[in-house]
Amino acid sequence: MFDNSSNPWDRRKFLGAVLGSSSAVFGLVAPDKVLAARLINTATNYRHADYTRYVFGVNGPLDYKSFTLDNPSRLVVDLTQTEMNRVNIPPAPAGSIVSDVRVGVRDGYNLRIVFDLKAPVNPRLILLPPGDGQGYRLVVDLPHDKATTLVARDVADPDSKPKIQTQSTFRDLVIAIDPGHGGKDPGAIGHRGTKEKHIALDIGRRLRDMVAATPGLKPVMTRDSDKFIHLRGRTAIARNAKADLFISVHSDAFRVTSARGASVFCLSQHGATSEAARWMANRENEADFVGGASISDHDQDVASVLLDLSQTKTLENSLDFGHRVLGQIGDITDLHSRRVQQAGFVVLKSPDIPSILVESAFISNPQEEARLRTAAYQKEIARSILDGINTYYAERAPEGTRYAML
Ligand SMILES: [Zn+2]
Repeated sequence: MFDNSSNPWDRRKFLGAVLGSSSAVFGLVAPDKVLAARLINTATNYRHADYTRYVFGVNGPLDYKSFTLDNPSRLVVDLTQTEMNRVNIPPAPAGSIVSDVRVGVRDGYNLRIVFDLKAPVNPRLILLPPGDGQGYRLVVDLPHDKATTLVARDVADPDSKPKIQTQSTFRDLVIAIDPGHGGKDPGAIGHRGTKEKHIALDIGRRLRDMVAATPGLKPVMTRDSDKFIHLRGRTAIARNAKADLFISVHSDAFRVTSARGASVFCLSQHGATSEAARWMANRENEADFVGGASISDHDQDVASVLLDLSQTKTLENSLDFGHRVLGQIGDITDLHSRRVQQAGFVVLKSPDIPSILVESAFISNPQEEARLRTAAYQKEIARSILDGINTYYAERAPEGTRYAML
């Protein structure tokens, strides 16, 4: 790992050349006889709706301390006797609170990582111990504090150099649309033979077109044809697309044909709790959750704290979003339940994507089945969901999104 033949002067020159750039590859060599105790071997980042997370893989427990600075806002993390081992810190994610990350060496063997920030933050640092083939990881969470607006601050603070952000730097909010069932799974079937999977896809496509036509929103479909997708595959598509919201579209069925009306579901608390247990037991999910690193099963406390924080907020947001959609749907049709209902639906279990399931009507009710087949009703349902999205984001579009600027 160490190249002791390197000339220290060359090394210093190299350091000088790379400081200030977060995309450079760091291949630092320890000075003679002062070998660093710790090596950072990996660096990943991930932009959550509420924070940007950096995860540094390190070859052992490390001593670190951190502090924040203002004008300009920075987070400084000092790591004792630590080096970067040919690690490429990825550029700050679009729309993140972080503008750049710089790395430097202090006293010859201590590492300083400086996060240049667009606004002051209260960072959260956690050292995760090893497990599941992963070593120690230092997790740095930088919340996107809504109270500190990037643009407003830049303009208001006379000491800071005004930065004009162009429209193109703001990201679109990604709306995942999940037409239920598909392929070998027809879903519920009405008396006239109408299959739920076809109705769900029709409504999903109409919603997709409406979302695509709304500035600041971008649709992603979990399926756009009559194909079968596993439930977990659906949430995976949303996660990979970094979805901000997830909407599963269905139509209801009951043995009594008189059952009628639309409803909206969110995940139940029990569903969330059991999902937390499942996530803790599933390495793949954990890896996803901490942004590419994995949480060890020796570290359930830290991991469950992280997961719980995210889940609680997500469920709160799901209920708020579901309530808004239900209100819109209530204007165009009867509701089966006037409250957002909660159940353990698998597709609603993403711990960090607010998710709802819309039962557009009862396909088992002959009148509603006939209605579900009409373009007019399909459009009305899609429009109601879109209106729900708009009222939800009117109050809480995240900083850094194009939607928030419109
Ligand atoms: Zn269904």
